[in-house]
Amino acid sequence: MSRLIICLFGPQGSGKGTQAKILSQKLNLPHISTGELFRLAMENKTALGKQVEETINGGQLVSDEITFGLLKERVANLDCSEGFVLDGYPRTIKQAELLNQCATVSKVIFIEISDEEAVKRLSSRRHCPQCGAIYNLYTAPKPAEDELCDRCKIKLAQRADDAEESVRERLRRYHAETEPLIDYYQDKIVKINGEQTIERVADDIAKSVGMLQLNQMLEQ
Ligand code: AMP
Repeated sequence: MSRLIICLFGPQGSGKGTQAKILSQKLNLPHISTGELFRLAMENKTALGKQVEETINGGQLVSDEITFGLLKERVANLDCSEGFVLDGYPRTIKQAELLNQCATVSKVIFIEISDEEAVKRLSSRRHCPQCGAIYNLYTAPKPAEDELCDRCKIKLAQRADDAEESVRERLRRYHAETEPLIDYYQDKIVKINGEQTIERVADDIAKSVGMLQLNQMLEQ
């Protein structure tokens, strides 16, 4: 049976990460975020983490070869044998071509939001440095007390690459380098309105993936 590989795609702040988590739970498939893999490497101060730190904190993309190397290793794990949900990969046409060497993407979910909305959402994003919980001061979940983690009661922090300068650079790169993937995947892409509640976006995505699974069963 072919693997179910769903790729979530959209500008920074479109909720890809949140939606990828929800979808991976629904499908019981691993959620693979290259951004998370890089952050983990930086936290653990691995050689790779040190190599990419400056690039990531400056809002730049890591090279296609390094990123694909990291992804390829991850998707070779046994837990990916039935498929996986990709979040933040591919981000360039070159990365999509490299991915074709080891996987066939089943469907691409494109979560659309405007640049203004992306800037508002990202500059309001915070996380707890202790437990890792994620909050948003503008959307949801908002912390109960001003900028304090609900659980740990310590001050929330902002990702270095969510600083305004960095966000604008990331959006500029997104339009130039990632948006051409809409054409590249034109036969596999489904557009979802990302400016709705998390639940509505998740429902729209589930519906489009449900259709895909039905089609795959009919083809077998
Ligand atoms: P994210 O959490 O998806 O916003 O990723 C955080 C940062 O990791 C990005 O701004 C890039 O610097 C780097 N990164 C993540 N995924 C990729 C990718 N597919 N290609 C290049 N750089 C990436």
